[in-house]
Amino acid sequence: MAKYDCSKCPGYCCSYPLIQLNKRDVERLAKHFGLDFEAARKKFTKVDPEAKYAMRRKPDTHFGKICQFFDTEKRRCTVYTARPTICREYPGGTCGYYDFLLHERSTQKDDTHVASTWNV
Ligand code: SF4
Ligand code: SF4
Repeated sequence: MAKYDCSKCPGYCCSYPLIQLNKRDVERLAKHFGLDFEAARKKFTKVDPEAKYAMRRKPDTHFGKICQFFDTEKRRCTVYTARPTICREYPGGTCGYYDFLLHERSTQKDDTHVASTWNV
């Protein structure tokens, strides 16, 4: 069972500098938004030195920048059913950031504290 609860997290992993998509991911997003592949590719991704399809990002108060599909008020994904493969597979059994977050919240005695200095 997962040892983290994304619903209580401000979405640190969605702020990673590189969120890499594959062709199938772009196709899924295109279908979700009723676009053709090329329109979705241009709108949602950019070419990165390390990735053909890198997620476009937008400004975020807590982490500087975050995935364009992240709701920065509700702190959650807005394309959950159409999210890329990497988002489906991450983080596996444990989440280091979540452990850090719980520790910081406990130390600060504040259940809503957003820990933003942790680095992977
Ligand atoms: S950083 Fe961890 S706990 Fe937070 S949303 Fe990502 S996987 Fe979930
Ligand atoms: S698609 Fe959703 S889960 Fe994936 S990085 Fe963006 S907001 Fe986070």
